[in-house]
Amino acid sequence: MSKLPNITTSIFSVMSQLANEHGAINLSQGFPNFPVDERLLQISERLIRENIHQYTPMAGLPSLLEKIAALTLKQYQRNINTATEMLVTAGATQGVFTAINTFVNKGDEVLILDPSYDSYEPSVLVAGGIPVRISLNDDYSPNFNRIEAALSSKTKMIVINNPHNPTGRIWTNAEFEALELLLEKHPKVLILGDEVYEYISFSHPHISFHTRPKLMERTIIASSFGKSLHVTGWKVGYLIAPEKLMAEMKKVHQFLVFSVNSFSQHAISEYLDVVDFNEISKMYRQKRDLFQSLIKNSSFELMPCDGTYFQVVNYTKISTMNDVDFARELITKHGVAAIPISVFYNDATDRHMLRFCFAKTDETLIAAAEKLNSIM
Ligand code: PMP
Ligand code: GLN
Repeated sequence: MSKLPNITTSIFSVMSQLANEHGAINLSQGFPNFPVDERLLQISERLIRENIHQYTPMAGLPSLLEKIAALTLKQYQRNINTATEMLVTAGATQGVFTAINTFVNKGDEVLILDPSYDSYEPSVLVAGGIPVRISLNDDYSPNFNRIEAALSSKTKMIVINNPHNPTGRIWTNAEFEALELLLEKHPKVLILGDEVYEYISFSHPHISFHTRPKLMERTIIASSFGKSLHVTGWKVGYLIAPEKLMAEMKKVHQFLVFSVNSFSQHAISEYLDVVDFNEISKMYRQKRDLFQSLIKNSSFELMPCDGTYFQVVNYTKISTMNDVDFARELITKHGVAAIPISVFYNDATDRHMLRFCFAKTDETLIAAAEKLNSIM
């Protein structure tokens, strides 16, 4: 019997493939199309000739763990024990899967806030758990009444993705305080904080679970260098969690992948000495501003974008089609690929919204905007 009877090919693969087939400009799947930093390429070229091609230690290359710990200290003033609280994973996808499959048992409920990234629900289902999907408010802020109503003795975990894919929203301090208050009544509930876009924030600073001592003891934080260093294909991410949680996750990780590819870990470890994460946010802010200014007079309505490299738009003025059909037509008739937002909801709620990825060269964004501006 299938463990995932209702799961089909991920929307990211579907839309990227359709974009390729029709030669459309691909603003669907989230990956940068500009070159990797020359400094990272130089490090990589040198490293490929060095003797670094065998297994790293199971939990990650020690120098990379040290650099991540230093980064976490600098960014969030949190001290992490590299030996007991960290794990390098094959992208955040494996981090999320590992965290969920370590702690979720048959019948356990996991709260997921919709619209939600597509890997959470299948990870829960493989574990035999029950995904409980809760809609965010219309402005994509968390709805604490709905979360409170869903919490029960069956709840094992809540997944919180911040900055948020697909909407680009960032949680406020007041929202963290509300969560802290709510979870005081549910001391056993774990938090999985998916912070893969932690270094891409514009409107107000990203608040990390690293800075919430009231929640830290029960929180697993997942991140990914794919997003912050423009190397999504390298699939290097990491988990940070208190020792008692991490010890259990390492047991699962060791038989899921054992260790992550050595070359990328070495290259990222060296690159972390020179890269400036503030520059990354700045660069994406310029891209967001450029993309917004290019299509602000189009028939698409721009939604707020506080962070991530995604811009959500409403197309009600253009079409009454559902968002999946409209996204297909956008590719086949107009030559631009986007992601329909309804696929991130449990009930496929269609609000006539699309997500565009602006992690693209300015030329790509200008060419895409020209096409989008011609649609009435
Ligand atoms: N979580 C979110 C919210 C994401 O957007 C992504 C990547 N798009 C991932 C997890 C997975 O990250 P990785 O590519 O490092 O596996
Ligand atoms: N996370 C990327 C996105 O949101 C896609 C990752 C994937 O293709 N699995 O577009």
